[in-house]
Amino acid sequence: MNKTNDFIKVSPASIHYLSLSPNGNISGITSLAGKPPAPAPAPLSYPGLIDDEARRWLAQENIPVSRLALARQVHGAAVRRVTRAGIYPDSDGFFTDLPQLSLTIRTADCAAVLVSFPQVPAIGIAHAGWRGARENIVGRLLEEMFAHWPVDPASVQVALSPHIKACCYRVGTEFSGFFPPEVLYRRGEALYFDLEKTLLSQLAQQRIPAKNIAVAPFCTVCAPIPLYSYRRDKTPQRLFNLITIEKAQSA
Ligand SMILES: [Zn+2]
Repeated sequence: MNKTNDFIKVSPASIHYLSLSPNGNISGITSLAGKPPAPAPAPLSYPGLIDDEARRWLAQENIPVSRLALARQVHGAAVRRVTRAGIYPDSDGFFTDLPQLSLTIRTADCAAVLVSFPQVPAIGIAHAGWRGARENIVGRLLEEMFAHWPVDPASVQVALSPHIKACCYRVGTEFSGFFPPEVLYRRGEALYFDLEKTLLSQLAQQRIPAKNIAVAPFCTVCAPIPLYSYRRDKTPQRLFNLITIEKAQSA
């Protein structure tokens, strides 16, 4: 498995979202887990947010830890503009127009939504599980970014990282109080939630054209490639999703 569509390329260690900037200045990357979860959780080395595997992957991708904006994610809807690397509490979304500052979100079943305004250039990232989707964190991120940089939505590029899909996302009946029937499926007695359809609908509300959205085709629970899934393994490990403006736009 190498190239899954025009936008997403899978290598042994990572998935590259290639579509985030027409001139190649903006790249989005998701780590691939390569091995089954360790029997005991590896000790977390850097402030509780980067485990040893993520550290190795970052080294392999030539991304210094000193360049990262890291979130203490709380499944909330707070997004913030960041101007320097560091650890941000109570955050589930970031945006910036600074080159060389990598915005990161860690996931194991939730989606990371990567956003690029290539004309600025500016980038954003959001952590969207069902709680974030219920709070419309994607809409909030885009509204904040449009307030700073009022670009044409038709120029905006988006990628969704690997996440749990409707095939495996069985939920409780309380979800019918949270989401409209179009994103809930009944199979026998069980109810299933379509997170992806929810996020795509929220992106459509922000007038992002569907053709500008790259969706990773993999379900974290049942994909034929190794991806971390909290639901499947209760793993403490996470996919590391990252977006960067590689260099300043030349005048
Ligand atoms: Zn699945």
